[in-house]
Amino acid sequence: MTNYKKKNIDIIINHAKVYGFIFKSSEIYNGIKSIYDYGPNGIEMKNNIKNFWWDYMVKYRDNIVGVDTSILMNNKVWDASGHKKNFYEYFIINYYNKKIYILEELLNFILYKINNKNNIKINNIKINNIKIKFLKLFKKKKIKKLNIFFKKKIIKYNLSKILKWDKIKKINLMFKTKINSFKKKEYTYLRPETAQGIFVNFKNIKNSNRMKIPFGIAQIGKSFRNEIISKQFIFRIKEFEQMEMQFFIFPGEEKKWYKYWIKSRLEWHYFLNLGKNKYRIKDHKNLSHYTTFATDIEFKFFDSFKELEGIHFRKDFDLKNHQKLSKKNLKYFDIKSNKKFFPYVIETSLGLDRIFYSIFYSSIKIQKINNKKRIYLKLPFFISPIKIAILPLIKKGKIINISKKIFNNLKYKYYIVYDDKDSIGKRYRRQDAIGTPYCITIDNKSVINKTVTIRNRDTMKQINYKIKNINKYFKKNFDISNFFKKKII
Ligand code: ATP
Repeated sequence: MTNYKKKNIDIIINHAKVYGFIFKSSEIYNGIKSIYDYGPNGIEMKNNIKNFWWDYMVKYRDNIVGVDTSILMNNKVWDASGHKKNFYEYFIINYYNKKIYILEELLNFILYKINNKNNIKINNIKINNIKIKFLKLFKKKKIKKLNIFFKKKIIKYNLSKILKWDKIKKINLMFKTKINSFKKKEYTYLRPETAQGIFVNFKNIKNSNRMKIPFGIAQIGKSFRNEIISKQFIFRIKEFEQMEMQFFIFPGEEKKWYKYWIKSRLEWHYFLNLGKNKYRIKDHKNLSHYTTFATDIEFKFFDSFKELEGIHFRKDFDLKNHQKLSKKNLKYFDIKSNKKFFPYVIETSLGLDRIFYSIFYSSIKIQKINNKKRIYLKLPFFISPIKIAILPLIKKGKIINISKKIFNNLKYKYYIVYDDKDSIGKRYRRQDAIGTPYCITIDNKSVINKTVTIRNRDTMKQINYKIKNINKYFKKNFDISNFFKKKII
């Protein structure tokens, strides 16, 4: 069996389009860069991922509640959050190929080049020194010095094709938008993270739901970042969804909860059963302005590990700054100790589109059967857009009646489809390609013996099953609570 990972990304993009998962936004006008739409199967799969996250983070716990806050917020939120001042991307344009490079990524590229040039083999210590120096300048935003440093290194190692560079520039990644066309100065931003909606509602949520520390607030919603460089399909896009949770804790307990959330989030990922070896934990070196320490859960896309989810210790950065600017008291009062303080915060932040991509990419499988290619999506059943396809073999008589009856019986429990177009082989192939775990075929035997054929997507094994027991069969096979009950941390 071959995985699509050995092939190129175009195959994944094509599969997503042909089978109604993901389309380029405004495609009839040649699209818009780094923005995508989800099709009929895409939205079902996306909703299933959301539910899986929400159930695990909110529903199965008694100390986390959910919210849905607005995308547009008071302009001052972005002063307090530090995004106006700090949410910049540093980039540089190359004269030779006219390409834009993100500064940090370029450094890695240059170091790689230096290290691999035949005539200049540099040892790891030297490479590390260059990197450390660069990161220091980068962190302190010493752009002038960075420019000099860059030129010196490039000239020194004569990296011919990447010789000529423009000056380093920076750009804020937030989308600015006018609030009111009459007043010129009234503007705000599309939120670049969902977290701020949680922080500004901290008091409302705590009071209305009588929450006591430690407790969490979860949210799923759109975020917008005017990314300079789009990457790999829906991996880095300008309009995306985040599934974030802010966990408010007593100061001093941050190490314990930080460890807890790394473990718990990893467990959630493992439930997807995509292979534990596909995940890696990595400390985030280049910290964003609001984090004290941070870890990424990385996933192996093609040949390299990339960030999937961030676990961040935000300390009391956000609540403190919001109190300062809003002049509203956002401190927490602890009855036991009779003390008022700013709770510390551990954040878990996962990109919905990114996790969608990781599942979709890992699940596409190709098989050769009798010299014919079979493509199927080996999705976990709770993520599959459609759970069961009802496929009558012939479009007439009692077969139709039985098929409709089964359809009407199951449709209130699972998302199922009824398909009587094309040959049975073609119908199986279509369901395989969109990841439907089971197909039910109804034929003459169903009329005589009161049985149907249930076909398994992964094994292609077919079993005869009594119609009257169908409910039992799917109840057993689609029971997610069983493996959640076993362990949830
Ligand atoms: P990256 O380094 O990949 O830009 P980040 O460290 O800026 O990500 P965070 O601000 O920590 O990301 O956001 C949390 C999560 O939101 C990320 O782990 C990722 O899953 C998702 N995310 C961030 N930016 C994008 C984007 N442009 N497109 C899709 N998902 C994104």
